[in-house]
Amino acid sequence: MKVSSVHNSLLNSKHCSLDLLRLDQLHPEISGNKWFKLKYNIEQALNENKKGLLSFGGAYSNHLHALAFAGKEFSLETVGIIRGEKVINDTLSDCERWGMKLHTITRSEYRQKYEPEFLHQLSDQFPGYLIIPEGGNNEAGIRGCAEILNHVALNRYDIIACAVGTGATFTGLLQSALPQQKLLGFTAVKNGGYLSEEIRKHTQQTNWELITEYHFGGFAKSDPGLLRFMQQLKADNDLQLDFIYTAKMMFGLFDLMKNGQLSNQRVLAIHTGGLQGNRSLI
Ligand SMILES: *Cc1c(COP(=O)(O)O)cnc(C)c1O
Repeated sequence: MKVSSVHNSLLNSKHCSLDLLRLDQLHPEISGNKWFKLKYNIEQALNENKKGLLSFGGAYSNHLHALAFAGKEFSLETVGIIRGEKVINDTLSDCERWGMKLHTITRSEYRQKYEPEFLHQLSDQFPGYLIIPEGGNNEAGIRGCAEILNHVALNRYDIIACAVGTGATFTGLLQSALPQQKLLGFTAVKNGGYLSEEIRKHTQQTNWELITEYHFGGFAKSDPGLLRFMQQLKADNDLQLDFIYTAKMMFGLFDLMKNGQLSNQRVLAIHTGGLQGNRSLI
C-alpha cells in the first residue's frame, strides 16, 4: 500500500520525518479504515448465511457509506439505522443507491443502541441480519484493524498516529505495533477522555496516549483555521484530508511539533480515508 512522505520546514527544524499510510487509496468507495473494520464482520455474515448487515451511524457516516457499498459487492442486504432527523445528503443518497434501507430514529432512541432490549427488537424486525455496532467497533473490527500495519515497513517508525472515533482502529494498531513504538490517538469528539477507558478494556499495553484537545469544537465541527490548514496541505503537498478526522490529527501532530512536544521522531500517520464526508462542507 502506498506511503506518502510529507516535507516542510517545520518537520526539518524539529528533525522529524512524517509518512502517511494511504488507506484513503484502498478503494474508491470503501476507503480507509472502514474496510479493515468490516472484513471479518462480512466474513462472519457470509459464513453464517446471513441475509444482510445492519448497523448504526449519523447522517454523514463513513461507516454506513462503506457498509452500503460492501453489502452490494458481497450480495448482502444492508440496513442503516440513522441518528436524528432525516436529511437528504450525498452520503445517504449513495447508501440508498447501493441498496441500503435507511431507518431514521430519534436521538434518544439512538442512545439505546447497545441496550439488549433494543437490539432484540431490531433482530425481530430484521431477522437474519448480522448487527454490527456503530463504527464497526467490535472484536471482528479490531481484529481487521490489527492488519493495517502489515502494509508498512513497521520498524522504520518511532511514532504511529491515528485519528480516533470509536477507538477500534487505534486498538487494532496498538495490538500490532512494536513494543518500542508509541501510539498517539487524536480524538475527533469533544471530551474524548472516556475513550482511554474503552481502549484499556482491550489492552494491557502502556505505549500509547490519546490527545484530546484537537477536536475543534466537537465531532464534525470545524473552524476557518482547520480549513485553511487543509487547503495549505493540499497546495503544498497535494494531500487531501477529511475535516472530521484526519485533518484534526495532522493539525495536532504539527502543533505538538511547534510546541516542542514532538521532535527527533520518525512518525507514521494513518490516512484513514473519509474523504466522502468532505462533500458536506460545500
Ligand atoms: C471512522 C473513521 C475514523 C475513526 O475510526 P475508529 O475506529 O472509530 O476510531 C478515523 N478516520 C476516518 C477517516 C474515519 O472515517
